[in-house]
Amino acid sequence: MKLTLEQTLEVRSHARQNHAEIFRSNACRCINCSGRFAPEDIVDWVGSAGDGIPGRRGALPKKRADIAAASAVCPLCGSWEVIGDASGLPLNDAEFWKQI
Ligand SMILES: [Zn+2]
Repeated sequence: MKLTLEQTLEVRSHARQNHAEIFRSNACRCINCSGRFAPEDIVDWVGSAGDGIPGRRGALPKKRADIAAASAVCPLCGSWEVIGDASGLPLNDAEFWKQI
């Protein structure tokens, strides 16, 4: 299946403010490096101050609203383009992965 631009952007939106989805996932994959890892391997979160400013990273904050705004940082390459399998996306489908 060929993804439209909208679908590609929708896929990538799962890498933003994705703490809840990552928390429900059993496996994660990074769009930037294609690395696979477990949610437990993620130790850094971007925008975890709740201000959504890219590049500010650190451990998860205490406040629930701030946690919800956090985006996972890849433990392998440091990019914040992590998608969890709780998204329902076919992370292990090579054809799908090539397109995003
Ligand atoms: Zn990565």
